[in-house]
Amino acid sequence: MNYDRWLCPFCGSKADINWDETTVSLAMRCSCGALALAAPTIDRDEIIDDAINIFKIKISDKAKGYDAKILEEMQTAGLRIWQGENQKVTDGPWGEFTSYWFKMD
Ligand SMILES: [Zn+2]
Repeated sequence: MNYDRWLCPFCGSKADINWDETTVSLAMRCSCGALALAAPTIDRDEIIDDAINIFKIKISDKAKGYDAKILEEMQTAGLRIWQGENQKVTDGPWGEFTSYWFKMD
């Protein structure tokens, strides 16, 4: 069971550089500098939490708990964000994975 749709939406290459920092999500880095984080689609918070830690973005109290607002504040902070491909990696509600791609301007 593993997500393998690491096609970078920024440059079109397949991301294949392992990410050494500890993350809750699966992580992969692209040669263009983008970072991809993948997790079950129903657990998207996990990806967002990892990204906040990695890019050290300050999220306002009023955005906490609201994914859409948090993503908006991350973009305001200079992070470009794309959603990647979904992939069913195993059965059940936790079996569908999605990825988000992040690149700092
Ligand atoms: Zn790339």
